[in-house]
Amino acid sequence: MKAAILSIGDELTLGQTQDTNSRWLAGRLADRGVRCVEFRIVPDELSAQARALRALADAAEIVLVTGGLGPTDDDLTRDALREAIGDGAPLVLDQPSLAALDRWFKDRGRAMPEINKRQAMRPTTAECLTNDAGTAPGLRAKVGKAIVVCLPGPPREMEPMYARFVEPLLPRLEMSTGVVHSFGQGESFLAERLGDRMHRDRNPLVGTTASGSVVSARVRGTGAQASVQAIDQELAEIERIWRPYAFARGAVTLAGSLGQALQARGLTMALAESCTGGLAGSLVTAESGSSAWFRGGVMSYANEAKRDLCGVAQSTLDAHGAVSAPVALELARGACVALQADWAASITGVAGPGGGSDAKPVGSVFIGVVGPSFEAVRRFRYPGERAIVRDRAAKSALALLRLAIADRDHFTAPFIWEVKDHA
Ligand code: ATP
Repeated sequence: MKAAILSIGDELTLGQTQDTNSRWLAGRLADRGVRCVEFRIVPDELSAQARALRALADAAEIVLVTGGLGPTDDDLTRDALREAIGDGAPLVLDQPSLAALDRWFKDRGRAMPEINKRQAMRPTTAECLTNDAGTAPGLRAKVGKAIVVCLPGPPREMEPMYARFVEPLLPRLEMSTGVVHSFGQGESFLAERLGDRMHRDRNPLVGTTASGSVVSARVRGTGAQASVQAIDQELAEIERIWRPYAFARGAVTLAGSLGQALQARGLTMALAESCTGGLAGSLVTAESGSSAWFRGGVMSYANEAKRDLCGVAQSTLDAHGAVSAPVALELARGACVALQADWAASITGVAGPGGGSDAKPVGSVFIGVVGPSFEAVRRFRYPGERAIVRDRAAKSALALLRLAIADRDHFTAPFIWEVKDHA
């Protein structure tokens, strides 16, 4: 089934209100396997609305309209629907809707203003749809071969009416979804690796999204491919293809997946953070139950704090500078000792916008990882402003720690921001 969505209102075309209804509706339709072929937004103007209605009714089997059902002169959706139906018949008064409006006002101890009567008018061939959350009834009618459903603009009225009046019109669809999250590579690199799996006609359908440097593959299976096994098989295959960047499925975060890796082995971790100032620790402690595996962090910002709290040698700081591989390594070692943890990660870098040099430009970050018979330092150069550098650095530290613990053979797989030369 193909759908189209029409949003109506001057406030939308003037940029005063964002059209969130279309996005919400398209998402619900997609959940039912209905493809939205067009969005349109038109002002409170009769001819533009009628024209849009006719065009969308030609392009889709179901057209969802929101807005313009209020009582004032600029609420023209009923008239536009009448014009698009094109049978020349005038609007008629719908007695049950009038009675419902009357009741709505009586229940609130008020008399119905005369102008609200307009809301009970409908094209002769249309049916009025009850609105329990407001005064504007919806409308359902045929325009050409398409079903048109008009709903009120306010989301709190529109959403329950969608569930009640639109969902029953949609095809029954068996569908299941799943998601795999990854960190360390760009969306295009990861999408390329998925190859034909991302073909739009494929079932299960696979799509990628990126948010906060986490790239996710979303899987949607319908019909025979909606079984738990079919989705699980697809997710497992994506995890294999995205190894070692894939870290979790579903609602599990990067910090949560690190916690799972530690807890499964009865291990603990600590952090030593400089340029991220506790951001990695904040991600970790956002996980409920993290006290079982997180010992704590040292926010060693000044050189003296690196020396006094994490035991970084003054000679190392003097010889290499605070942003360096040797200091990252000593920070991680020091955090392990200071917090009596099995594992630790350290972060030291130049978050910018100031403080960069030719040798260590803004965005340069060293991450140390230390644990039982394991020591490593990785160097990155993150593009972007201070907040992005800090966010990526904090997440990289958690991702590397997780790899060192759970997938050590792949620890050296490069991240997109990797700098090979440590000097
Ligand atoms: P009512 O009689 O309840 O006002 P209506 O159908 O006439 O219903 P409109 O007057 O068009 O609705 O819009 C009312 C409010 O609903 C707008 O001011 C806006 O806040 C919200 N709204 C309308 N359309 C949208 C949209 N497409 N996306 C998000 N919000 C919307």
